[in-house]
Amino acid sequence: MTDQNTQTTETTQTGTTIETGPFRKAVEAAQADLARVEALETATAEELTTAEAALEAAMAALLKSDEPKTYEVHLNDGGGDDSITAASLREAMDQWETWAQGGDYGDPSSTIWVHGAVEDEAGEFHPASVEIDPEEPSCEDDLEHDWRAEVGVVGGLAENTGVFGHGGGVVITAHCAHCGLYRETDTWAQDPETGEQGLRAIRYREADDASIDYTWAWLMEAIDEIPLPEGWSAARCGESFLLELTRDGAEDDDPETVLANPEELREVLRLKSWRSLIDE
Ligand SMILES: [Zn+2]
Repeated sequence: MTDQNTQTTETTQTGTTIETGPFRKAVEAAQADLARVEALETATAEELTTAEAALEAAMAALLKSDEPKTYEVHLNDGGGDDSITAASLREAMDQWETWAQGGDYGDPSSTIWVHGAVEDEAGEFHPASVEIDPEEPSCEDDLEHDWRAEVGVVGGLAENTGVFGHGGGVVITAHCAHCGLYRETDTWAQDPETGEQGLRAIRYREADDASIDYTWAWLMEAIDEIPLPEGWSAARCGESFLLELTRDGAEDDDPETVLANPEELREVLRLKSWRSLIDE
């Protein structure tokens, strides 16, 4: 028996250089034999069928082997095509997924499903699909989102806040305690292209009064525990996201005030002191 590794050589096929092992050599021999039979004027239908069957069998063996093979990757609706090299269909499907995920889908607002196929060397198409989630908007002040589900903000039952039935699944809504952004996770989403149900989809929704009021309330609660320097009082500045610090006794027409935004208030929380804002 010959060592397969020492027998491999390089060949160029469809622009990609791949190794030629015994299984590919058998395919090439079967291809040559079929071409020879086809060129014969005296070839019978039976001889042709036999040569075609031999090529089919050799190709099937190559596809089952772990020798490198060329696969064509496709996205539906003219979304793109490419050639890859993989040792197996499984590996080619994984490569398709990575390749498809790198596509430009115009920043979808909700999860989408992208479809395509992997085509093997026998010309057979293997359907493939992958979910593309919307990009998560960044939080404020370089913070990580702090996802919560306060009943006053997202509704639902007290023991299961923000969870509502949807088809055979649920929609789970969370809100960020820092920036008020909403995240909805649907466990019963439907792929509009295939009609498949029970998929997971994510959607982000802008902050609204309810989520911002919650953020404000917990921030106020936390900073309430930090005593203000003597002679100062604090109040939320109207409906805005600002805190107004005022020195007591300041004239109405000339208030001695400091306006603080949430980023500065978080700094106060971190330092547990108002000193950084009020320079007495
Ligand atoms: Zn956030």
